[in-house]
Amino acid sequence: MSNFSRFSRRKFLITAGASAASSVFLKGCLGNPPETANVPAADAVNAADISPEQMPETSTAKLGYIPIVESAPLVIAKEKGFFAKYGMTDVEVSKQANWASARDNVTIGSEGGGIDGGQWQMPMPHLISEGIITNGRKVPMYVLAQLNTQGNGIAIAGIHKGKGLQLDISNAADYIKGFEASQGRKFKAAHTFPNVNQDFWIRYWFAAGGVDPDRDIDLLAVPPAETVQGMRNGSMDAFSTGDPWPYRIVADDIGHMAALTHQIWKFHPEEYLAMRADWVDKNPKATKALLKGLMEAQQWCDKPENRAELVQICAGRNYFNIPVAVLTPPYEGKYEMGDGQQAFNDIKAGPLYWKDDLGNVSYPYKSHDLWFLTESMRWGFHRDRLTDIDTAKKIIDAVNREDLWKEAAKEAGFDADIPTSTSRGVEKFFDGKEFDPENPEAYLNSLAIKKV
Ligand code: CA
Repeated sequence: MSNFSRFSRRKFLITAGASAASSVFLKGCLGNPPETANVPAADAVNAADISPEQMPETSTAKLGYIPIVESAPLVIAKEKGFFAKYGMTDVEVSKQANWASARDNVTIGSEGGGIDGGQWQMPMPHLISEGIITNGRKVPMYVLAQLNTQGNGIAIAGIHKGKGLQLDISNAADYIKGFEASQGRKFKAAHTFPNVNQDFWIRYWFAAGGVDPDRDIDLLAVPPAETVQGMRNGSMDAFSTGDPWPYRIVADDIGHMAALTHQIWKFHPEEYLAMRADWVDKNPKATKALLKGLMEAQQWCDKPENRAELVQICAGRNYFNIPVAVLTPPYEGKYEMGDGQQAFNDIKAGPLYWKDDLGNVSYPYKSHDLWFLTESMRWGFHRDRLTDIDTAKKIIDAVNREDLWKEAAKEAGFDADIPTSTSRGVEKFFDGKEFDPENPEAYLNSLAIKKV
């Protein structure tokens, strides 16, 4: 039985059961009222597993997502019944047109026709909480879990083939900086939303090679389709992007991949589940039910034997609406890099959802939030609000709810996967730099290109 019909049937049985208790008509027609013993075993177990103390306050939540690999565990939790298993039978997973729409929709909230939370680049939840990207309107949010690591990269337009625009661009820095003199315009690079992950990844990569992203090039937010069109017609040079775009860059002969984020920072923090604080405060059990469903989905997503089904579901018309052939390679860890570089064939180079070589992926480490806010300070973002590391830590303590993640993991029996610290420890980047969460100032001091 398909999931859809299984849940429809379950709903029907619940409805039928409720009306049967008071309906003489039904009883008369059918002879006997429906008995729970007739419910298929899997459905009965699902419903019975929830103890009264863990019964969610509501069965619904509206979660926004962007059709990229980061959202896969939300889609899978919905489609494979992991949310429903924990009593969240009516979760709506709602496609957002872009990051600005997601931000606007969470500011409105589901009661106003928006969303309760969903998928975010970092540190959007912190910026929304502080009113920094919402015209001063503070909408407190909680970060609940990390959705994934990796699955992003930096693409380069075909006209730059053979110029050394690969992982380390030290030898290509003069070429990039001299572009304005030779071409009459600056080297132009795009991401999808300012001051968040994809902006950070491309800034880090440029700066590590000696290119100042604020002075030497033009770096701006552009919709993906427009960026790709620009890369084809020669008006756009680089694109900080997420799967499945990197695959298309090479497959469609648009250009090459300079780097996977896996190369820039192995098992780096990527996108997160965060929700409005008022929703979580009102529905703490439902929040944990969502988390439990998400965790099971993340475990499911990481199993190589499930990847083909994952692709089938996510590529579908209701979700990413892209060919299966485009979404398959990143889930096999297969990346054609182009420009004479060796291809990747390593499932650990692509998106991972539950475990990587450094530990748990789903747990939202506060030390990762701190990197995002430290990096924001590096580039002088939100200068008037984000003035020092202590302020950053205060914001993180208000937004990061790793405590709820741990409670949910315990209730679900994933005790062995619960990290023992809110810090993952010292982080290492491809250029030899290190971020020690105990000493973010030392990291800032070690960087040659910065705005602080
Ligand atoms: Ca991303």
